[in-house]
Amino acid sequence: MEIRAVVKTEVAAFTALEGYAPGLAVVLVGADAPSAVYLQQILRTCRTVGIEGRLVELAGDVSGGHLRRRILELNEDPLVSGIIVQMPLPPEIPLSVVTDAIDPAKDVDGIHPLNAGRLLLGHPGFVPTTAQAAVELLKRSGIELRGREVVVVGRSNVVGKPAAVLLTREDATVTVCHSRTVDLALHLARADVVLVAAGRPGLVNGSMLKPGATVVDIGINVVNRGLAGEALVGDVDFESARLVAGAITPVPGGVGPVTNALLMTHVLQAARAGAELARSISVSTAGVVPQ
Ligand code: NAD
Repeated sequence: MEIRAVVKTEVAAFTALEGYAPGLAVVLVGADAPSAVYLQQILRTCRTVGIEGRLVELAGDVSGGHLRRRILELNEDPLVSGIIVQMPLPPEIPLSVVTDAIDPAKDVDGIHPLNAGRLLLGHPGFVPTTAQAAVELLKRSGIELRGREVVVVGRSNVVGKPAAVLLTREDATVTVCHSRTVDLALHLARADVVLVAAGRPGLVNGSMLKPGATVVDIGINVVNRGLAGEALVGDVDFESARLVAGAITPVPGGVGPVTNALLMTHVLQAARAGAELARSISVSTAGVVPQ
């Protein structure tokens, strides 16, 4: 069954039982256009599955201290089950402002160091949704990963690194390429599966691929097509790659929708844990007799 349909049913059951819907706070710093489009998609998915999406807009010149306080308030809000902060942040604000402030129990995109450590050690926790979506797409499409050569292009903390960890867990032999890799084509030529998350349109093309390789294009780039206006493209040159690849995900439409659907499952999971915690606190305080 489709992830979205399952989560919708389970959200309805949660809401009926608890008397409130799971909530997702989406923090946007500055009105960056591509981010805003992406956030609108998330809020739309929230509505579709019955999650209470809340857009928290902060001015582009907001201070790190203010952003931190706003996240701490959301941590305390019982109607907010999960929090995501749209990246990139303005250059003056270090990412650590967000990663240090966000409650790991509400960190539904897995950016807190505690969740990153859990992922690395194979403990339960929130996994960055884009990386999870890319691997989930491969598994659901029946692509064999065990013992196969997989190349991940990109080593960011939110996509490349967690994807490499998840793929290793699936018994793939993983190579991580990045901006300092000397010969990207050399590595791609022997890859059975390629995941690209570099934010560079056209970085990978058909001539670099092993025939029959599976290609997951995670990149999302806005390019100007002159008179045709702006277009969304991935990191892979789709036209040349599709002639060589055994399977390839399109942009838009490939990883993005799965990412959003998985985010909804994380919010529901956080809401359930929050409701459980609230119950256990009320049970334990009920036993305390005031003196
Ligand atoms: P990032 O800028 O943090 O990291 C980019 C990575 O690509 C770096 O590790 C860098 O070393 C590598 N890289 C850059 N140029 C390279 C080159 N010439 N050769 C090899 N490696 C190179 O970006 P990110 O946050 O990881 O995002 C990557 C892409 O994925 C972006 O296009 C982003 O928009 C997209 N993205 C998609 C989703 C989704 O849901 N599909 C979600 C998040 C990000």
